[in-house]
Amino acid sequence: MRRHVEASDNLCALMRDHLPPKIFNRLEEVGRLAEQAGVAAFAVGGLVRDLLLGHKNLDVDITVEGDGMAFARLLADHYKGGLKIFERFATAYVICPDGFKLDVASARRENYAHPTALPTVASSSIKEDLYRRDFTINALAIHLNTHHFGEVIDCYGGWRDLKKKTIRVLHDRSLVDDPTRVFRAIRFAQRFGFRIENNTLRLLKETVANDLIHQLSGPRLRNEIMLLLSEKDPHRAIRRLAEFDLLRFLHSSLKLIPSLETLLARIPRAIAWWNTRFADRSLDHSLVYFMGLVEGVSDSAIRAMMKRLTIPNRQASKVHMVRSSLSSALRGLSMSRRPKPSETYRLLAALPDEGLVLLVAKARSPHVKRSLTTCLTKYQHVKPSLTGNALTAMGLQPGPLYKKILDRLLDARLNGEVKTEADERALAKKIAKL
Ligand code: ATP
Ligand code: MG
Repeated sequence: MRRHVEASDNLCALMRDHLPPKIFNRLEEVGRLAEQAGVAAFAVGGLVRDLLLGHKNLDVDITVEGDGMAFARLLADHYKGGLKIFERFATAYVICPDGFKLDVASARRENYAHPTALPTVASSSIKEDLYRRDFTINALAIHLNTHHFGEVIDCYGGWRDLKKKTIRVLHDRSLVDDPTRVFRAIRFAQRFGFRIENNTLRLLKETVANDLIHQLSGPRLRNEIMLLLSEKDPHRAIRRLAEFDLLRFLHSSLKLIPSLETLLARIPRAIAWWNTRFADRSLDHSLVYFMGLVEGVSDSAIRAMMKRLTIPNRQASKVHMVRSSLSSALRGLSMSRRPKPSETYRLLAALPDEGLVLLVAKARSPHVKRSLTTCLTKYQHVKPSLTGNALTAMGLQPGPLYKKILDRLLDARLNGEVKTEADERALAKKIAKL
């Protein structure tokens, strides 16, 4: 928390000192344009919260009192940027030619037809707009218009709660209106080391007890879970999910049992190890944790869970690959007899990178890391010289035999059993019984 700022302060100086100049200048410019257009523009949400906390946040969310979509058009024209408008939600984004993105929304009130429904929106004042937000700390705004630039709008005690390190909903229906806020409360509490205030905690428990989480759509629930698993300490986040009895909404059989605790505790070191060696390969950390989370549940439970969360096919198939290959890879690489290079390669080739990290987390034997490193740095680049075309030129009929030969050639290359193209030809002929 920035100590030298008080609630009555104008944040202009703080913004100038702590935001990247590019963002600061754009915010000033937005304020000038708003003034000219006769609307009021505000920076809202995470940017304001994180500015006061002293955290970096480069997401610029602008809320406009007045016709926000017309203002978004004006910004897009001004910056000669791209524009995407979502009329139904009165939100838009502007992409400047340098890639900088501004989210623009009309100040709006939300009405929930029934709990968890997507809200209908009506235009409103900034005060009403802030009232629909999840927590007081996320309901702060900064006026951007030139004559008010830097003034804080704090209608609901967000600043006080930031100082008190407290997560607090704005009203008692908040979590019923949108149960994703249950997960958001845990996420922010854990990210900032904040406490969930007592009444909010009571409402949270009530929301869980009333099973309202079941009403969330798959994509919304998945989004919240994956965001939690992308935070700095997903193990603690999972503990909190268990503590609040939230894991059952993923699957009734999902429990934080000691063996899962042990595995989760080993993942950070495995990721750190991976990052020091393979920083150039992008790793989906949340997927590593997700794979860890489902390690102990049955195949049918995993399928049900992934269906409930509408896990996209790409990730789902990675989870299935890990499911079918991890144990045998672990066993094969931990044996006292050192596997041949081709065996190591075959044991690891089926695993996605996230699965390899999980393998490292599970492994007790130091051989595993060594084999994995050799495989990724060496074996993966080995290829036989002969290709399918070369086999055709040798007079072989295309068919399943090709795969058999090419697989065997690769194994032989990996094991150093063939060294030249001529060696490969000889071996190919032998396999084909020519
Ligand atoms: P992060 O740093 O994780 O992006 P954020 O506060 O910016 O945190 P976003 O999800 O980017 O969170 O949303 C931006 C703002 O929109 C929030 O600060 C909050 O005011 C509002 N908001 C987002 N999701 C909800 C929600 N489910 N209910 C109410 N308000 C929300
Ligand atoms: Mg954000």
